[in-house]
Amino acid sequence: MKEESCSTCPSKSACAGGCERSDAEMAEMYDLDADTTEGHMVWVELEHGEGVPKVSEVSLELLSKAKRFGDQRVIAVAFGRESVREIAPVLYSHGADTVYHVRNPSLIDFHLPTFAHGLTTVVERVRPNTLLMGATDLGMELAATVAWQLKVGLTADCTGLDIERGVLRMTRPTFGGNLMATIVSEGRPQMATVRPGAFPVEEIEEGRRGTLINWPIKMVEGTVAEQVSDVDVQDCASEPTELIISVGAGIGNLRNLELAKEAAERLGAELACSRSVVEKGWMEQTSQIGQTGRSVSPRVYLALGVSGAAQHQVGMSRSKNIIAVNNDPEANIHQIANVSIIGDVGEFLKRLLERLDRLDRANGASEA
Ligand SMILES: Cc1cc2nc3c(=O)[nH]c(=O)nc-3n(C[C@H](O)[C@H](O)[C@H](O)COP(=O)(O)OP(=O)(O)OC[C@H]3O[C@@H](n4cnc5c(N)ncnc54)[C@H](O)[C@@H]3O)c2cc1C
Repeated sequence: MKEESCSTCPSKSACAGGCERSDAEMAEMYDLDADTTEGHMVWVELEHGEGVPKVSEVSLELLSKAKRFGDQRVIAVAFGRESVREIAPVLYSHGADTVYHVRNPSLIDFHLPTFAHGLTTVVERVRPNTLLMGATDLGMELAATVAWQLKVGLTADCTGLDIERGVLRMTRPTFGGNLMATIVSEGRPQMATVRPGAFPVEEIEEGRRGTLINWPIKMVEGTVAEQVSDVDVQDCASEPTELIISVGAGIGNLRNLELAKEAAERLGAELACSRSVVEKGWMEQTSQIGQTGRSVSPRVYLALGVSGAAQHQVGMSRSKNIIAVNNDPEANIHQIANVSIIGDVGEFLKRLLERLDRLDRANGASEA
């Protein structure tokens, strides 16, 4: 008999008697290392109007698909007030076995901090194997925030899903739609947003019954950025920054690039770039924004000599404000910019730095 403390006994103190088991044997005997995640969870996007909310088509597509996987229970999560209960039969008949009604009397419209907090807490409690959401505007916003809060990967905009022994194989277009990539995730839940229309809606069984679980939540105040302000976001998909100055091929030469660097330093901004600038060898690939670079959503994205190609927009179009400086009035970037400056980048930078000099001088004078 061992007298010293024992890591395999429940009390973690001295052995009650004759225990010779190692941790590994215990783990095997009780299946302790087995993955306990189970179930396919679908976030149900609702269209609210008068009366009972309407379930979006893509949510029905995802419930049908999850049921057709045929291997695990299907869990639907719907947010809203009392009336949301009435959609439960629709969700059951399309494949849901359990419906979580995340509720609050004030919860009518989509509210990102509350929805993200609510979905994250349900996921943490239920521990589903997969979490599927429509790749709609709201679905993508919610999915990115929940993935960030759960610290798991997210495969966005999938057009195909398959399951093999619990492993979700997520297929989506890549390289500008020229190739299809099939992605598997090591984390749990395996998270995907799915393009609307990718799968058919199938009514599995009219009158089918399931379990409705009420999940009361408090409204979460503030913005998501405020809530996570103290979280290390270095390896997150979307990085909250106040100002990003992004240079494109239109920056023209290294002298102008130096001016952009100086402006970024003085304004406390991050300097980023398009792929053309990386290809010229002027900046590192780690600074590249876009499809094959990073995704950012700063308060202000100042694009200097960037054309606004689709592959670049993928990484920056969620910025709160976009200011574009480009001498071509037809450039794509102007179509998504809040403020467009049709002009020369070098000239713009020169004037910006002069303005900063003047401000510095004025501040110096007032402090003296
Ligand atoms: C599979 C794939 C993945 C890609 N991934 C990415 C990616 O992640 N990120 C990315 O950025 N690109 C990516 N690209 C490349 C993308 O398609 C564009 O080629 C690239 O974004 C163009 O960069 P740019 O806007 O800096 O250059 P350009 O397209 O050359 O545009 C330069 C702009 O500067 C303007 N300009 C020129 N001179 C001046 C001046 N003196 N003052 C003001 N404006 C001026 C011009 O009017 C023009 O609009 C990818 C492409 C492919 C095929």
